[in-house]
Amino acid sequence: MSSTRSFAHSERLYSEAEKVIPGGVNSPARSWGGVGGTPIYFEKAAGSHVWDVDGNKYVDYVGSWGPMVLGHAHPDVLGAIKRVVDSGTSFGAPTESETKIAKIIVDAFTSIDKVRFVNSGTEATMSALRLARAFTNRPKIVKFQGGYHGHTDALLVAAGSGALAHGVPDSAGVTDSFASDTLLAQFNNVESVQNHFDSYPDDIACLIVEPVAGNMGVVPPADGFLGELRKITERNGALLIFDEVITGFRVAYGGAQERFGIDADITCLGKIIGGGMPVGAYGASSEIMNTVAPLGPMYQAGTLSGNPVAVAAGITTLELLQNSAVYDTLEEKGSLLSSGMQSVFDDAGVALTVNRVGSLMTMFFNSGTVDDWESVSSSDRDMFSKFFHAMLDEGIYLPPSPFEAMFLSTAHSSEDIEHTVDAARKVIRRI
Ligand code: PMP
Repeated sequence: MSSTRSFAHSERLYSEAEKVIPGGVNSPARSWGGVGGTPIYFEKAAGSHVWDVDGNKYVDYVGSWGPMVLGHAHPDVLGAIKRVVDSGTSFGAPTESETKIAKIIVDAFTSIDKVRFVNSGTEATMSALRLARAFTNRPKIVKFQGGYHGHTDALLVAAGSGALAHGVPDSAGVTDSFASDTLLAQFNNVESVQNHFDSYPDDIACLIVEPVAGNMGVVPPADGFLGELRKITERNGALLIFDEVITGFRVAYGGAQERFGIDADITCLGKIIGGGMPVGAYGASSEIMNTVAPLGPMYQAGTLSGNPVAVAAGITTLELLQNSAVYDTLEEKGSLLSSGMQSVFDDAGVALTVNRVGSLMTMFFNSGTVDDWESVSSSDRDMFSKFFHAMLDEGIYLPPSPFEAMFLSTAHSSEDIEHTVDAARKVIRRI
């Protein structure tokens, strides 16, 4: 489909980038492998909008893949960054603000007594695995097919997100010895989990799960599923790790643990807690966290961990999220968008299943229920790709993959959502 917008400047920048950066990007999901075409280059963002280098404006449903829950360039978050940055950007020594953000996180999650800050979600999950293995003195881990937990070796087995969109869910360079300790289960299938514990009752250190699957598109946990995971891990002396890098402070202030009433043993956080600056964290009870150096034998460190600029942005973001209206607002906006989209597709007679948990949602081009890996995989990727490009042309920036979440923010207005639904009504006839 020919575009009415010009992307000439983006195309030029991409061809330059391809010469010096693999695939032109620093993270594969940005290369549009899931939808085809040339990625657009962003120049600026404010609230619910982003602008590309060709001057095109979009309503943004990516939100930097999650952290911009308050919208882009929130003035309070920018103000906090500007205030601290004049005092220096990194010390490699403790700062008071690290304790402040740690207390905010400990207060938000009943399962966390202590929390360690790192620089990304990947570092958080990598460290959480090491911690679970150190604490239990067991080697194996269980993860779900289509679950993405960053690019640490042991978790790049049947992974979702960019790995899935680019057809490399199992990465080259991950040795068999790493992969053989990773056991794969099926999301929303308790039996597939139980089978592993039956086979290796004394060898499984932990089970890691995105409590709302977000990296094979949004798939909510079936009723009772998370509770069963809690029981199975407890019965078998294994730790339950909730990877709340997406869900933490998003599906509720206290993440999926608050929303579904289940406590994890170890919680991984990222993105949102840095307000858009690079950050991650993992937390647990004191008993578990005291295994971490310098108190215990599990080593983990980081030159830039607890970076004062990232922490300042994070504190301000989390304080703004403490307003109880935030989550009602996100729910309302999510509902408006999902019901609007569903009715457009129903009216047009085109199959669509919208999965949504609060402000996270995925439009699956699928006629049935999407509640597991198999149903996710049967969605129409070509149709998504056509829809993505047609919506782009109407000024709507969707995640450039059929297997990612759309992220809403408090900055999305009813007008933005109406504009998005109208755009879908317009394009559905021609794709
Ligand atoms: N866990 C989950 C659930 C994620 O969605 C992601 C990234 N999308 C990660 C971990 C890895 O985080 P990062 O990209 O910050 O390393």
